[in-house]
Amino acid sequence: MERKLVGIPASPGIAIGPVHLLRWEVPEVRHRIIGDHAIPDELTRFRDALERAKERLRQIRERVESSAGPQEAAIFDVQHSILDDPVLRGEVEDLIRQNLGAEKAFELVMYERGQQFARSAHPMLRERVGDLKDVEIRVLTLLMDLPDHDPVDLPKGANAILVTHDLTPSLTVQLDRDAIAAIATDAGTRTAHVAILARSLGLPAIVGLRTATQELTGRETAILDGSTGLLAINPSHNEIDDYRERARQEAVAEVELRSLSVLEAVTTDHVRITLRANVDLPEEAELAASSGAEGVGLMRTEFLVVGRAAMPDEDEQYRAYRRVVEAFDGKPVVIRTFDVGGDKLPVGGFPTEANPFLGWRAIRMCLDQPEFFGTQLRALLRAAAHGDVRIMLPLVVSLDEVREARALLAKAARDLDARGAQFRADVPLGVMIETPAAAVAADTLTTDVSFFSIGTNDLVQYTLAVDRGNANLATRFTPMHPAVLRLIQQTVNVGNAAGLDVAVCGEMASQPLMAVMLVGLGVRQLSVAPRSVPLVKRIVRGISVEQATRAAQAALAAPTAAQAEAELRKHLTDVQKDLFGDIGVA
Ligand code: PEP
Ligand code: MG
Repeated sequence: MERKLVGIPASPGIAIGPVHLLRWEVPEVRHRIIGDHAIPDELTRFRDALERAKERLRQIRERVESSAGPQEAAIFDVQHSILDDPVLRGEVEDLIRQNLGAEKAFELVMYERGQQFARSAHPMLRERVGDLKDVEIRVLTLLMDLPDHDPVDLPKGANAILVTHDLTPSLTVQLDRDAIAAIATDAGTRTAHVAILARSLGLPAIVGLRTATQELTGRETAILDGSTGLLAINPSHNEIDDYRERARQEAVAEVELRSLSVLEAVTTDHVRITLRANVDLPEEAELAASSGAEGVGLMRTEFLVVGRAAMPDEDEQYRAYRRVVEAFDGKPVVIRTFDVGGDKLPVGGFPTEANPFLGWRAIRMCLDQPEFFGTQLRALLRAAAHGDVRIMLPLVVSLDEVREARALLAKAARDLDARGAQFRADVPLGVMIETPAAAVAADTLTTDVSFFSIGTNDLVQYTLAVDRGNANLATRFTPMHPAVLRLIQQTVNVGNAAGLDVAVCGEMASQPLMAVMLVGLGVRQLSVAPRSVPLVKRIVRGISVEQATRAAQAALAAPTAAQAEAELRKHLTDVQKDLFGDIGVA
């Protein structure tokens, strides 16, 4: 039967193919009592399953390392260390010696571990629950001789639409791009990290579908349109033909857009807009550089630490930063210091927190751990010897934080000097404006920073008190809310008056209509996902600052987000069809 599900558009592109339903769930385990004589065999069976699970993890790790890179592969180190944990193994073996079947014994011990973590509201521990769950599924599958259903086991060329509840980092990095054409999840929002990663991988994606895994059986065919959020189940032949044609047009448009990469991002009234790329993984650097981006406006560094069993040392970090710097050949590369915590989870050792988004994260955690932070700062200063590196601090709320970070940066330079290392000391230091505190009191920061970069993902979250990752709140997460627009306007005014560069690097800058809004508010630097660079460039080249300013001022005066957007559109009607009409901007 033909059906349509609508979720949140997370990564553009059209895919048509069979649904692959991934239920990565713990299987039901029977309570089985074994006789004393059977204990030795049961112990052997359990140990053997652990070894086979480790071997399986090793294979996956190798495959991921060659397809996605060493950072992604390191995600599996945590799972490997769980399998290697002698305490956990001992607890299971004790239960087996008390005549419990291996599956139940293992399940009970994993359940207890999971409970310890799940009782805390801290996302880092929730993430560990994810790792525990992955390990539990893997071992039980082996113990119970169940079919192995990792996403990577799809045949090459399957062109499947992967439908799953949520994508853990460990599942995401296993996705075989030759088998999977698109992703659809029940959970998540546009700014959740799974969505950001799908865009990095260039896979069309819809998130926040809520009930897709319940409604589908895995025997359907579907069309997934990542620009509109539509998942059409068992579509008619006509519909399939329609979407094939749209996909073809999108491909043509993309080639056309790519040809813009050599042109300047300049408005019709000759105002130059600097267009840079957001880079989430060092592996993306080359693609980003060929997109026509004039440097990197935001390099996220969390992928160096998330899901790892051990912290990357200074040399490993230096190599990752240097790769991006060299790919951009002298163009500015803004590297953000670790923004761990919240929904970005670090190597273990985090305390339990009731409100992680308001917790010990990002710059707070770095300043409280000068050794950890110092390693990153030294790696950054060394990478700066190879190009135009600029350092950016996340989640700043006060000048004290900037000053403390500056003192640690000076110390990092002294340490490198004493070591005789090659580095650059005079690296510009800037801040993300992503809390209402930083935006409202932006004037207090201007004396000590070289630039502002507005992080609209968090600015919207903190201003509107709307969790950016909660699918139930997705329609309430709106950058066009008057409070958000006013904070952006104020930050731009303060930055411009102080002669600072003011950029926007949140997702807002990647959305065509919003990009016009930002230009109209006086923003002259935008940093967007690499694949959005040509699209945003085309928008910039199609509008005048004069028109964008008029539209933005009208939007700014509106009392609601919906009215602000309507005003914006009204003032852009003459360019709207030309610019936005054929590129799926709803
Ligand atoms: C932001 O908050 O807008 C931002 C760009 O950073 P992140 O999405 O990594 O929090
Ligand atoms: Mg942020």
